[in-house]
Amino acid sequence: MARYIDAVCRLCRRQGEKLFLKGTRCTTEKCAVTKRAYPPGQHGQGGKRRSKLSNYGLQLKEKQKVKRIYGVLEKQFRRYFQIASKSKGVTGKILLQLLERRLDNVVFRMGLGLSRAQARQIVRHNLISVNARRVNIPSYFIAQGDIIQVKAKEKAQKKLKENLELAKDRTIPTWLEFNSADLSAKVLRLPDRDDIQQTIQEQLIVELYSK
Ligand code: SF4
Repeated sequence: MARYIDAVCRLCRRQGEKLFLKGTRCTTEKCAVTKRAYPPGQHGQGGKRRSKLSNYGLQLKEKQKVKRIYGVLEKQFRRYFQIASKSKGVTGKILLQLLERRLDNVVFRMGLGLSRAQARQIVRHNLISVNARRVNIPSYFIAQGDIIQVKAKEKAQKKLKENLELAKDRTIPTWLEFNSADLSAKVLRLPDRDDIQQTIQEQLIVELYSK
């Protein structure tokens, strides 16, 4: 499947904020947004002044941001929106809940992957099981009560434990009950809007797709 191949830090600089796409580097002074707080390209620093975004521009920007955070391409993102809009409840909240329920996101939230991109690779490499069955589909939706566990040989386990150590300052969300002894997590409940700390204005995305 196609993925964003642009240098990921450029995506943050274009967005004008940290999207946390590169793991531990994102919280250091090496972060490109910290070092160069202006958009990439020749019109970035001191170049042509950027005009104020229209409402449509803001909606588009917010959608791009969420797609980039979760590493989801347009087709799949639109599909999530369709599922959310047909579901009972607030569409924007359900959209974010669907993104949070992706297996690659859960592996990231557990701290096994330092970024969602790395978590996606971990899932693809067949290192994760859900309810004792191996699942290598990053977009797989977890459900309440599921047990997600590492099923890897010693060498891969070691690497994942190193990741956990590097991610130890990250808070594991309360909807997951993590067990560091066997590298597993139980889904206690489905994620809520309040569980997502990153600033997202999901209403803008709903407005965009509802036109
Ligand atoms: Fe974005 Fe992380 Fe790169 Fe900073 S280091 S620009 S937050 S991906």
